[in-house]
Amino acid sequence: MKIGLIAVGQAGGKIADAILAYEDRSDLSFVADAMAVNTAEADLLGLEWIPPERRVLIGQHRVKGHGAGADNELGAELTREDIQEVMGTWDEVPMSSVDAVLVIAALGGGTGSGGAPVIAERLRELLSEPVYGLGILPTSDEGGIYNLNAARSLQTFVREVDNLLLFDNDSWRQAGESLQAGYGRINDEIARRVGVLMSAGGAANPSPDQVVDASEIINTLGSGGISTVGYAGSKLGRARRTFGGGFRQPGPVDDTEAISRIMSSVRQAALGRLSVPAELTSTERALVIVSGPPAYLSRKGVEEAREWLEEATGCMEIRAGDYPLPDTDYVSGLVVLSGVSNVPRVKELQAIAVEAKHRMSEQESLHGPALEDLLTGDSGEIEPLF
Ligand code: GDP
Repeated sequence: MKIGLIAVGQAGGKIADAILAYEDRSDLSFVADAMAVNTAEADLLGLEWIPPERRVLIGQHRVKGHGAGADNELGAELTREDIQEVMGTWDEVPMSSVDAVLVIAALGGGTGSGGAPVIAERLRELLSEPVYGLGILPTSDEGGIYNLNAARSLQTFVREVDNLLLFDNDSWRQAGESLQAGYGRINDEIARRVGVLMSAGGAANPSPDQVVDASEIINTLGSGGISTVGYAGSKLGRARRTFGGGFRQPGPVDDTEAISRIMSSVRQAALGRLSVPAELTSTERALVIVSGPPAYLSRKGVEEAREWLEEATGCMEIRAGDYPLPDTDYVSGLVVLSGVSNVPRVKELQAIAVEAKHRMSEQESLHGPALEDLLTGDSGEIEPLF
């Protein structure tokens, strides 16, 4: 499946860069085109993989390339004002090569948080292809304004896209590691999940019975709601590489061993490695993709994994398929849980935002309306998402 990437804000740009680097490293081809939008010139200059002619600096007349800070209402305004410039660059993308668009942004900052929903809304007015969002949630200790931004942006973003894939910085952080130090690793993890999902939906030589095609991904993501993506794998440890750099293909693999590898990867992906933890039983639709060397892709294993997920989620709309990758030393399971309605982190975020709003209203009544500027969104109200 070919996707067009639109990265908004600093984290959005770095993640799009990581996806392009993953595509190159893995010798895959699932990105039809990529562009970055930002109010901060330095962030655009720091990108490595997005071509310079696909980087759009917005809001120059007001913030002079210095960014929107953590003001997501300003981020939204500047994007609205310069939307023609953004769309002008997007117009250069040949749409015949794009199956879906992915708008990527961190929801806790200013530009991405405010701008991504604005861009998604415009794209959906213009395109018949699905427009998905990839949203990064801030960690809970990043401070009130980040969490307030995220709660508000989440609400708007989810409304403006066909599906919002959520990734929580909190659930990826390793013990003792600072958030900054972890970004590179987190971005690589995100890139791998996006890469496996999108490239599986366009595998060059799929096995005919179990292929996951673009329409299955599109049907799983459906129209509306939030998704979480799990991924886990186990190394095969095949000793020798061929001269071409690939791995020597194994002889027949014991089916019991292959099934057990598949099952443990898929269980681990769904139970402990979701991009944002969610209650499995709140899933509406799901997709399982098992990737690895063809000899390890047991048909029975994929079916058992699908049945297991059906039982664990209680959801009957589960698609499953394999993705043969001859030149890998891993068997991996990728699980997409779509339309999840019980996501504790989202509920927590909303509670933080409601609390922050109350505190600001109290202060406002003490000190006058200046603090109103901190409140973003149309009405200032925080509605429950589910
Ligand atoms: P913007 O440029 O105004 O949209 O702001 P940012 O994109 O920097 O958004 C700030 C949020 O993004 C905070 O929650 C940060 O923790 C998070 N963030 C910043 N850089 C990265 C990154 O490279 N990767 C990830 N996963 N999160 C990031």
